[in-house]
Amino acid sequence: MMREEARMAELLRQDVAALDPYTPIQPFEVLSKRLGLDPAQIVKLDANENPYGPVPAVAEALAEYGYYHIYPDPEQSELRTELAETLGVAVDSILATHGADEILDTLCRVFLEPGDAVVNCPPTFGMYRFDATINGAQVLDVWRSADDFAVDVGGIVDAIERDRVAAPNGAVAGKPKLLFLTSPNNPSGNWLPDDALARLLALPVMVVLDEAYVEFSDYESRVGLVEDHENLIVVRTFSKVAGLAGLRLGYAVCPQWLMPHLWKFKQPYNVNVAASVAGLASLRSRSEIDRRAKLIREERDRLYGLLSETPFLEPWPSEANFILCKVTGMPARELKETLERSGVMVRYYSSAGLEECIRISVGRPDQSDRLLAVLHGIGR
Ligand SMILES: *Cc1c(COP(=O)(O)O)cnc(C)c1O
Repeated sequence: MMREEARMAELLRQDVAALDPYTPIQPFEVLSKRLGLDPAQIVKLDANENPYGPVPAVAEALAEYGYYHIYPDPEQSELRTELAETLGVAVDSILATHGADEILDTLCRVFLEPGDAVVNCPPTFGMYRFDATINGAQVLDVWRSADDFAVDVGGIVDAIERDRVAAPNGAVAGKPKLLFLTSPNNPSGNWLPDDALARLLALPVMVVLDEAYVEFSDYESRVGLVEDHENLIVVRTFSKVAGLAGLRLGYAVCPQWLMPHLWKFKQPYNVNVAASVAGLASLRSRSEIDRRAKLIREERDRLYGLLSETPFLEPWPSEANFILCKVTGMPARELKETLERSGVMVRYYSSAGLEECIRISVGRPDQSDRLLAVLHGIGR
């Protein structure tokens, strides 16, 4: 039996077999059982979810929709038309996907062959490295500055202009094809300034600009730049600002030359009808979504002030719906576990560039108060 297993396992792609094992996050219900707390008592500030959930129109639209037994429109025409109007971009520059995560993977599959390279700017969202690796590419890390997480524009220019690049594992990779940028960046919350973006857009590389949190910033989205840049793809999502993380709906605004190729790769039914219906209802409730985004921004600024006054925390300013903090005077893991025992979940990091850091998602004011009550208890 074991030998049969081993023989079959040899059929796997070798690069997949060699990947690190997958570690799932603990679902909410499992966690509440483990902590012996009612799910309603848990303050979940670990995944940048929207504490207000979807707007009420979403539940109404889902209840009213009568065609769940019919396959979705493979082109998501209604949703994309509404999106085009909202964003002020051409409808045929938009591709809708099963969360932003799907378009990131699709872009890797469309551009990357084994041995190709991408440029990644850590510390950042983990999916760029994951998707590039799973598609056989080498990941060239150009680290952000340690004090304010600004991207190293000169370092990126070097990595892209060099002819052939030695990858970290000793292999030689080709010229990078994709450059992943995030603005505001997750987990640091900082904005990518216009001058940096302009210099990077001048490079001979596809720039994938992930704007999952742009609605929480004081700046405008860059979707309007796509029209004039054949190498810019802007990725957006309904998960954070519209509170639809569990329904999975994202999209990309892409240069028109790329669209036919993306359509070839896209699974026809990648976006389910519930996600489409919910997305449309959200777009039609723009003012309510904007109102909630404003509440979250205001709460972020209040929370930032309060965290700054906490003796063992050093928060970084944020343009997003989360705040990254350096933990001083105690191990960050211990702080995370203390908070968890009181039912307050935050994201803890121990990876390079994020040593002794936690990331706190911005919740409702009452959730911040629960967090702060625990923090004050530790202080004394
Ligand atoms: C949350 C997040 C996403 C994922 O969005 P989904 O639409 O839920 O897949 C993409 N990019 C960044 C930077 C994120 O933090």
